[in-house]
This record gives sequence, C-alpha cells and structure tokens, in this order.
Amino acid sequence: MRILIVEDEEHLAALLSEVLVREGHSAETASDGRTALSRTLTEDFDLLVVDWMLPDLDGVQVIKRLRAADVGVPVLMLTARSQVEDRVEGLDAGADDYLPKPFAFPELLARVRALSRRPPEKETEETVLTAGDVTLDPRRHEVRRAGERIDLTAKEFALLATLMQRPEQVFTRSVLLDTVWGGTTGAYTNVVDLYVHYLRKKLDRDGEPSHIRTVHGTGYTFDPGPGS
Ligand code: CA
Repeated sequence: MRILIVEDEEHLAALLSEVLVREGHSAETASDGRTALSRTLTEDFDLLVVDWMLPDLDGVQVIKRLRAADVGVPVLMLTARSQVEDRVEGLDAGADDYLPKPFAFPELLARVRALSRRPPEKETEETVLTAGDVTLDPRRHEVRRAGERIDLTAKEFALLATLMQRPEQVFTRSVLLDTVWGGTTGAYTNVVDLYVHYLRKKLDRDGEPSHIRTVHGTGYTFDPGPGS
C-alpha cells in the first residue's frame, strides 16, 4: 500500500516510515496539515496515518476537509489525547480508526492491516447487494437508496456491506467488530454503536423506520423494510 504519514515529530515520522516500509508498504511523510491535505487531494494514497496535533491545520481539520471533498481514503488517527470525547470527535470527523499514543508498533501494524482489508467478503467481491430499496456495489464502492447516492466512509461502507450480506440475520457487536475492524486489539464495541449511528444518519429518512434495527441486548440486523 501507498501510505502517507502525517506527523510533525520528525523522529516518530521516520520510525513509522521505517516500520511500514519493512512491512512492504511504500511510506511517505508530510509534517504539517496543509501539505498533507494538498497532497491527498491530488495524489492517490491507500491509507493515511494522521497525528492529531499538527502545526497549522490539525488532524481533525485535515480529515474533515478530505471527507468534505469526498475523498474516502482510510484514515488511522494517532493522538496523545485519550479522552472518549476526543476519540469520538476524531471518528466523527471521518477517521476510520484511532490509536492512542504511545503505542506499540505491532499494534499499529495490526490496525494498518485491518484498514487495508477490502470491505466486501469473498462471496460478494463482485456482487451488487440489494435489500429493500438499498443497493450496495462493492466494486464501485457505491451505496444508493431508492437510486439516490449516499456517501459513506470506508468503515461505514464495510459495516453496511456486512449487514446487507445477510438481511434479517442478527450480528452481535463483537462479530461486527471482528469483521469490520479486523478484531484489532484495543478496539472497543462502542465503536460499532457509533458507526451504526453514523450509518443511520446517512441512510435513514425522517418518519420511516431505520433499515438498521437494534436487537436489544444482542446487536444489529439489516431490515429491508415492509414488503421485502
Ligand atoms: Ca504531533
């Protein structure tokens, strides 16, 4: 994968780069938010590793602007902050995963591997999924509801794809965590609830029941809706 590391601490950036290159990736670095933003808008990266605290634009601002520009590249956010609200803010901005500093390199690599996993499962690699009025096209990375396109981040897409592969089947939080987040250590089941919340915000319509139904005490299921 071609990875852009956005980190202003030179020593850490160099270390990260070395570790990722040793894993067979191509790693480049940017030391401030504006450079990272302009490079990501004009070049193709497979993954961004973004530190929260950066000179000029901070990591959250970078991610928000990328998502606003419809750039869906997976983002792993690094930060020394460990408060839950901060974590939510990062994920809310469109980061796909979050790693608190200090971290161990094997954990970073596990997160990178999880993010590099293609969302669709083997059997649906090329198959368009349809359930109710929602269609999901894994190849084009496209979701539509009643023909209207809905923009999702990589993790939102992977979560929806997992649920839509088996409509009406109940998925537990830990199964979803494992499937969508690759069972990375330190991932928290709350993240599933958070992403269901994001998906509903984008997918649902006012006054209509949600396609993603909460199964109390268990997890979630995709409900195709009445008549389906
Ligand atoms: Ca920093």
